[in-house]
Amino acid sequence: MYRTLSRRRLLRLAGLSGGAGLAAALTPPAAATPATSTTAATETITEPWPAGPRDALALLLEGNRRWVSGCPRHPHQSIARREAVAAGQSPFAVVFSCIDSRVPPELVFDRGLGDLFVVRTGGQSVDDVVLGSIEFGPAEFDTGLIMVLGHTRCGAVAATIEAVEDHAGRAPGHIQAVVDALRPAYEIAVRQPGDVVDNTVRAQTALTVARLKADDQLADRARAGALVVVGGRYDLDSGRVELVA
Ligand SMILES: [Zn+2]
Repeated sequence: MYRTLSRRRLLRLAGLSGGAGLAAALTPPAAATPATSTTAATETITEPWPAGPRDALALLLEGNRRWVSGCPRHPHQSIARREAVAAGQSPFAVVFSCIDSRVPPELVFDRGLGDLFVVRTGGQSVDDVVLGSIEFGPAEFDTGLIMVLGHTRCGAVAATIEAVEDHAGRAPGHIQAVVDALRPAYEIAVRQPGDVVDNTVRAQTALTVARLKADDQLADRARAGALVVVGGRYDLDSGRVELVA
């Protein structure tokens, strides 16, 4: 009998749907993405569009520093930006993160419309549909950066640990698919000293980064330097993203 998933945790995990954005991603890219973004009618922020994967990573981490310090600029969130990218897009990064309501990529990296492809699943668990969604940016838009983003105190990871350690148990419905996907990371983490939830988050991030680097559609780009795949860990308390893989 499955006994350990609390109602609150079930409700947290119930938001597994919501793969919005793929239809928009199918829109052909516009000409060049403007290097100037307007945050309000009276304020204009000018920043260079990333020239490559390392510049893209720097832009993400700069945005995270603004988020941590409480000084976000909210770039690319204006009506002007909405109109500028309506006909096409050219996002500079893919962020693959958890569904957790406290880790929205556009907020924690202080970005806006047309900047990021965002894929989110419980515990950033992977299946074929997820892989296809992640491949889409690099394959169709030459997106040069993929960040796999885990986070502290991940409820999906905690639920997985509870389900696995209750050997006779099974998570309700399709949540079991998340448990199955996260189990390899748990099996690594449970042999390590320290907090098993945090270790599982780190292992899941590292396994996913390795899997993406070896992916048929991504490996050649990664070897050629046209694509960088990194792993991050978001701290729910400080808001800081540290690179862990
Ligand atoms: Zn999570």
